[in-house]
Amino acid sequence: MLAGSNHKGIHVEQIKIILKSGKDQSVRRYHPWIFSGAIKKIYGSPSEGDIVDVYDNKDSFLATGHYQPGSIAVRILSFKNEKIDYDFFMGRFKKAFEYRQSLGLTDNNDTNVYRLVHAEGDGLPGLIIDFYNGTAVMQMHSIGMYRLRNEFTDILKNILGEKLQAVYDKSEDTLPYMAGIKGTNEYLSGSPEASTVTENGFTFRIDWISGQKTGFFIDQRENRLLLQSYTEKRRVLNLFGYTGGFSVYAMKNASLVHTVDSSGPAIDLADENVRLNFGEDDRHKSFRKDAFGFMDDIKDKYDVIILDPPAFAKHNNVLANALQGYKRLNIKAIEQVSPGGIIFTFSCSQVVTKENFRKSVFAAAANTGRQVRILHQLSQPPDHPVNIYHPEGEYLKGLVLYVE
Ligand code: SAH
Repeated sequence: MLAGSNHKGIHVEQIKIILKSGKDQSVRRYHPWIFSGAIKKIYGSPSEGDIVDVYDNKDSFLATGHYQPGSIAVRILSFKNEKIDYDFFMGRFKKAFEYRQSLGLTDNNDTNVYRLVHAEGDGLPGLIIDFYNGTAVMQMHSIGMYRLRNEFTDILKNILGEKLQAVYDKSEDTLPYMAGIKGTNEYLSGSPEASTVTENGFTFRIDWISGQKTGFFIDQRENRLLLQSYTEKRRVLNLFGYTGGFSVYAMKNASLVHTVDSSGPAIDLADENVRLNFGEDDRHKSFRKDAFGFMDDIKDKYDVIILDPPAFAKHNNVLANALQGYKRLNIKAIEQVSPGGIIFTFSCSQVVTKENFRKSVFAAAANTGRQVRILHQLSQPPDHPVNIYHPEGEYLKGLVLYVE
C-alpha cells in the first residue's frame, strides 16, 4: 500500500529520524544505508517497513527510505524530498526496464532470462526481480518492499505487457524476522507457460519454486560464455555445479565434463539441462559429492576446473574462516590441474572484497609453488549493476588462472 492510503502507517504520520553529528557524511555521499548506530533520535514510532524521513542534526533534510529495526535501520529510496508513491516506484521500474532494454536483454532470441531489478543497483534496496522467459520471480529482503508486492505486480504488468505471464513471490526465507511477518512463496498473478529459458542459445529448465535463490544464477551468464572459449577438446571439472550452467556451455566442445554438487536435486537438474541441450551424451557425468572431498585425488585428470562455491561468509565476523576456505579450495585445484590448465575461481560473498579474494588465491598459488598467471578478472554482468555509491553491491568476483 502506498501514500494516500492509511495502511500500516505509511505516510500517515510523518516519521522523522535525526542523525548524530557527522553521521550525515555517508548519506551526503549517497550511500543508501543508515545504520542504527548513526541515529540520534526518532520522532514518532515507526513500524517495520514504514517510510521515514532522515535529517541531519541541524534539521536539514537528507533522504527518505524504508525503516527496519536492526543493523541497517533505513534503506534509502530517495535523496530528494519527494513522495514515495505508486508513481515513484513506476518511475524506478521503468528505468530498470529501459536500462535492460538498452543492454539488448529484453527482446533477445538467444537470451530470455535476465535480472530486471537489482536492489541498490537500481535504486530499489531490498528488492530483487529476475525474469525467466515470461515469469517474474520477486524476492523481497525488507518489509517495506514486501508490503508493496501487489503494487509491484501491477507495475510489472504495466511495463512488460504481454511479455509477462506470471509473477511469483519467493520471499519466504528472505525477510527479516523482526516484524513477525512470514514471507510467502506463491504466485501473485498468472501461471507460467514455460519452465525453460534460453541463455546464449542454450536451454535450461529452471525450478524457481524449490531451487536456490530465485532458481538460477543469472549472474554467471557472461562468465559461462567466456568459459566456453577455454574448453575445446579439454577435460572439464565443474565443482559446485548447481543446475549445470557452466557444464552445459562446456559441453559444446569439451572432450568430457564432470559436474559435482552436494545436492541431489541440483545434480538432477544439471543432468536434465545437459540432456535438454545434447541428448544422452556420455561425455557428461555427474557426482553427488562434497567438492572438497572430490578433489582429494584428481591429479592431472582435468584441464579446466571451475570453482563456484556458495558464499562462504555472510557476515564480517566469519570473514577469516571464509578466506581460509577459499584458500583451501584453490590450493587443491591449483595443485592438481593438468599442466597448462585453466581454473575459473569465484567468490560471491559480499563481505569478501576483490582484494581479499585475490590475496586468498595468491596464498593458495604460493602454497603449491606452481607458476600461475591471471588471464581475466571477472565480475557480475550489467543486469546486476553496482551503484557507484554502494561498493558493497560488487559481490561477484572471479579470476581465470593459467597454471603452468
Ligand atoms: N555454479 C553454479 C552456482 C553454484 S551455487 C551456477 O553457475 O549456476 C553453489 C552450489 O554449491 C549449490 O548448488 C550447492 O548445492 C553446492 N554446494 C554447497 N556446498 C557444497 C560442497 N561442499 N560440495 C559440493 N557442492 C556444494
